[in-house]
Amino acid sequence: MIMEGSGSYALEGMVSDRRGLRPGYLIVEDGTAVEVGGGECPVRPDRRGVVLMDTVNGHTHCADYGLRVPPGMSLQELVAPPDGLKHRYLREASDAELSSSMLRFSRDSRASGAVTFVDFREGGAPGCRLLRESAPGAVILGRPVSPEFDPEEMEGILSVADGIGISSISDMDRGYIEAVADVVRERRMIFAIHVSERVREDIDFVLSLDPAFVVHMCEATDSDILKCAEAEVPIVVCPTSNRYFGKVPPIARAERLGADLAIGTDNGMIRGPDMVAEALEFARVAEAQGGDPEAVWSALWKLSGKILYQHKNIQNHNRTDVLAVVPTEEFTALSALRGRPEAVALNEKTKRL
Ligand SMILES: [Zn+2]
Repeated sequence: MIMEGSGSYALEGMVSDRRGLRPGYLIVEDGTAVEVGGGECPVRPDRRGVVLMDTVNGHTHCADYGLRVPPGMSLQELVAPPDGLKHRYLREASDAELSSSMLRFSRDSRASGAVTFVDFREGGAPGCRLLRESAPGAVILGRPVSPEFDPEEMEGILSVADGIGISSISDMDRGYIEAVADVVRERRMIFAIHVSERVREDIDFVLSLDPAFVVHMCEATDSDILKCAEAEVPIVVCPTSNRYFGKVPPIARAERLGADLAIGTDNGMIRGPDMVAEALEFARVAEAQGGDPEAVWSALWKLSGKILYQHKNIQNHNRTDVLAVVPTEEFTALSALRGRPEAVALNEKTKRL
């Protein structure tokens, strides 16, 4: 729950933000943060915990939040365009139904402490407009739907979205994708794409499109991951969604090869936008793979540091930030993330030290 207008306390413990995980504190008055910073708490602390700042949900599809998924469906049956169950649902559902799902998703996302979520919005320009109206603070990456590249359609999408999020190079003609990526690059907007979720895809072609980040990489080889690391293209992983389809994100390998990782909750129909739960899953997978679960802290804000705050329109949408507070006695990733967070709104005048 976002605590606004209630609760005053001082918390001491760890702060995770763009400067890394460090000892710090938080002072909350009437449900809003008035001071957050590193070092020792200037007043006597009432609680101990972890303060998560600048948390961005790096990959979502919020419009299908209202879809109930029958068990046992494969990745292709469910999400492959154009006729996977999800796409049929999105075509048939009314705007009012989709809009109310988006609004609910956006509220649930903020309640888990995320500043914003980066949504791969289906349905061309109308789809992007519906999301902008329903959840103005979302980072919207639209998707063209015309059978061939159409500059006018691109203009329509980019007049309301923050960039483009492509399904995958397996679903679309390469010339079409290149034309789309060119327009996005010229405008210095965000281009992102799902890669190697179900089958391995050509990473050289993907990186030639100059993506801001890629999503999934479950079937990627070490060499594919290394190329992302060298190109400084972050990999957004979605461990819960992947597990649903019997896939595993390459978290430990990406850590070892030096690629930046970020976390997304993916399709709303499979899991809600709960970043703390997803972060816990990330830490569990990292540990099971022999990696370092503490990498989860940087993965929570990696996209906000690397991409989002460079885009002015995105900053303007998020005037009131929220941060998550995880009450805990221990500060290892796995034990801390088991604590349920509360989300606290940042006062515009909050001192960030
Ligand atoms: Zn996705």
